[in-house]
Amino acid sequence: MDHFLYRDGILHAEDVPLTEIAAQVGTPVYVYSAATLLRHYRLFDEALAWGPHLVCYAVKAASNVAILKLLGDAGAGMDVVSEGEYRRARAAGVPGERIVFSGVGKTEAEMRHVLADGVRQINLESEPEMRQLSRIAAEMGVEVPVTVRVNPDVDAKTHEKISTGKSENKFGIPIAKAREVYREIAALPGLRVVGIDVHIGSQLVDLEPFRLAYRKVADLTEALRADGHAIERLDLGGGLGIPYARSNLAPPVPMDYGQVIRDEVGHLGCEIEIEPGRLIAGNAGILLTRTIFVKEGEGRDFLIVDAAMNDLIRPAMYGAHHDIEPVREPAPGSVRRPYDIVGPVCESGDTFAKGRDMVPLGAGDLIAFRSAGAYGAVMASEYNSRPLVPEVLVSGDDMAVIRARPSFEEMISRDTIPEWLNTP
Ligand SMILES: *Cc1c(COP(=O)(O)O)cnc(C)c1O
Repeated sequence: MDHFLYRDGILHAEDVPLTEIAAQVGTPVYVYSAATLLRHYRLFDEALAWGPHLVCYAVKAASNVAILKLLGDAGAGMDVVSEGEYRRARAAGVPGERIVFSGVGKTEAEMRHVLADGVRQINLESEPEMRQLSRIAAEMGVEVPVTVRVNPDVDAKTHEKISTGKSENKFGIPIAKAREVYREIAALPGLRVVGIDVHIGSQLVDLEPFRLAYRKVADLTEALRADGHAIERLDLGGGLGIPYARSNLAPPVPMDYGQVIRDEVGHLGCEIEIEPGRLIAGNAGILLTRTIFVKEGEGRDFLIVDAAMNDLIRPAMYGAHHDIEPVREPAPGSVRRPYDIVGPVCESGDTFAKGRDMVPLGAGDLIAFRSAGAYGAVMASEYNSRPLVPEVLVSGDDMAVIRARPSFEEMISRDTIPEWLNTP
């Protein structure tokens, strides 16, 4: 459930008509619903209420500081994969002891920064990484809580670009090698083993791969404990999928996911950490855009909108589907016709949907791309020199611009012409 509904014939974000946001901020613009973000966070929190736990929002899904502040104030921890994300979480007031640092390629500078400023745990992904972290922590005179991300070799049955738990993926350490790696960590200065980490992929629509992975983590917990390691926390990753098309079967809900976790690892007495991103932010945001032209083509009509692949890359990158709705509610029983919905960027890949049945639309009409809150604005670029898409957060009848659209001057003034090009 989300808070983007028609009211008096106009699609609203909570109590704010999208027409109002388009008038004030212009289009394209991302619009998030605070109530939906909080609701999704709480669903996970409740699903794990049977034991000690921390829901660490995966910042990479939607990283605006206002969104982090909203979730952080509600009690969420944060899962970050770069110093930039870490700094955003801190800027939102989230204390270091609620921030987990994940990622395959943490640099020395990043390690130093989070060690100095405070971190709940670092999830290690390789042996060179653990040796480097040990050296830096020892040098700084700190002992950092660590887990090792194990690769359980489970097929997440999701899109190949977001599948991370098979042995051929670049992520983590093969689970069969884990005992050896933990033995080495225990002997290294500056590192304190606190648990195990696993994350098998994103947009999972079936609980079975989670169950298989968590069962392997439970076995490993017993084995590592027998080896004398203190396994007190299990970081079970993110990855629960969302419905992108209303017509599709709904993916599992957080409560059922929480039950799988309880079934598989609940008996171990560990604190549970999870790192959901997409499920919290995905259906809490839309991309609002305006039709520039309707172009009649041969055998098909094109709806050319003012959003493009640089603003929302998921259809071009993953072949992703987004439900698309007109902001003005269609009359019941209106006849629909197929449109190709495209942006203005000079690439054929700049196509949001092909042959999508829509009520007839004209130039100037507003439409909303649903389920765009996660991996939307964060992946935006200025390709084709289109200023970075702005973001708006709505809560009840309050709305605020949480990232302003840069002016053309701001965009261009970031470039500098070298002195030697100016000399005659
Ligand atoms: C991307 C990622 C997540 C979040 O995944 P979602 O599918 O958005 O829930 C969590 N943990 C790690 C390590 C990730 O890389």
